[in-house]
Amino acid sequence: MSLSTIKAPATLALLGGGQLGRFFVHAASELGYKVIVLDPDPDAPAGQIAASHIVANYDDPKALAQLAQQCTAATTEFENVPAAVLEQLALTMPVAPAATAVSIAQDRVREKNFLRSNGFNTAPFIAVEKTDDLNHATDELFPALLKTARFGYDGKGQVQVTSIDEAKTAQREFGTPCVLEKMLPLELEVSVVLARSATGECSCFPLAENSHHNGVLDITVVPARTSPELQQQAENMAKELASKLSYVGVLTIEFFISDGQLLINEIAPRPHNSGHYTLDGCVTSQYEQQLRALCGLPLGAASLHSSAVMVNLLGDQWFDDSSEESREPDWPLLHQIPNLKLHLYGKRSPRRGRKMGHFTVIDQDGTAAFATAMAARKAIGIQD
Ligand code: ADP
Ligand code: MG
Repeated sequence: MSLSTIKAPATLALLGGGQLGRFFVHAASELGYKVIVLDPDPDAPAGQIAASHIVANYDDPKALAQLAQQCTAATTEFENVPAAVLEQLALTMPVAPAATAVSIAQDRVREKNFLRSNGFNTAPFIAVEKTDDLNHATDELFPALLKTARFGYDGKGQVQVTSIDEAKTAQREFGTPCVLEKMLPLELEVSVVLARSATGECSCFPLAENSHHNGVLDITVVPARTSPELQQQAENMAKELASKLSYVGVLTIEFFISDGQLLINEIAPRPHNSGHYTLDGCVTSQYEQQLRALCGLPLGAASLHSSAVMVNLLGDQWFDDSSEESREPDWPLLHQIPNLKLHLYGKRSPRRGRKMGHFTVIDQDGTAAFATAMAARKAIGIQD
């Protein structure tokens, strides 16, 4: 079904109930909409605050029938929802993003082939559908990362390899299709979050500069500390990519900057951790844009009203080095900082490496925002 304006108080279906979904539920309720979350996890952060939470698998026929009956439109916050489920929902209601775009973004082989065939630069790679495909790997590809085609996130499902033999062993252990990708020296990682409406209107949030720790996003600095030319180039590439995908909704493009060149690393068919800063630093958040694109409302202003530095809070902060017993971090230390916004996701069990929350420092002065964020990080014991 095609997208037309969907007015509040319509009920919207959200596939996936993580923190990205929780912020979507906030944005939707602020504009008077209701959200039904489908997520198999009874404790899902978005499920806790939605109008209702269906605890079932994404392809559960009864759950999908209920969504079809009660919802006016559907979106997703999780790229691993089976594309067939989005297709099925699209028989009875508008769905954004569409199954076709999600099916490309959720599979690294399809994603990288799509990028290459549309002329976008990526790190050199080969697709590895079966182990013997690795015989085609040339010496220039090494050292490399072998990444599973599906279900990898936060650096999981990837391993460094230095030879064809090592890559073969790793691929047999994964036991699934993979991509083998050259490890590049990275000057910087940046991302563009954009929203595109059904009419083709496209709006990019400012370029975000991301640093990772152990494959997990750690800090996002906005505006990115890069040249205006490079920022413009990233935005142009992002818009062109969204248009080639005929994309509707919020799309994130992760870039590497290597040897002065912008390369596309991967895309996510949803709001993104590196776009959390838009909640506090922008006129419209990435989550409100997702709602606006889905419901056929005009897109809001994506401009930055202050510099922003976002810091992820992982479950590690809930544990002392010596103890396996968890405890809450010392939040009053953060509450004391007036231009720091703390967001906790309501996850009941902290685990090391699990994303539990984040904070964003906003300041007219980017250098001051960064200094405050680093001091706050240190105060609650985050190690560099
Ligand atoms: P995920 O789905 O886990 O985010 P990514 O492909 O984005 O997977 O990899 C996670 C991180 O690992 C990247 O943000 C980057 O820091 C590092 N990385 C991934 N691929 C490469 C590469 N080809 N060269 C150098 N670093 C890489
Ligand atoms: Mg990534």
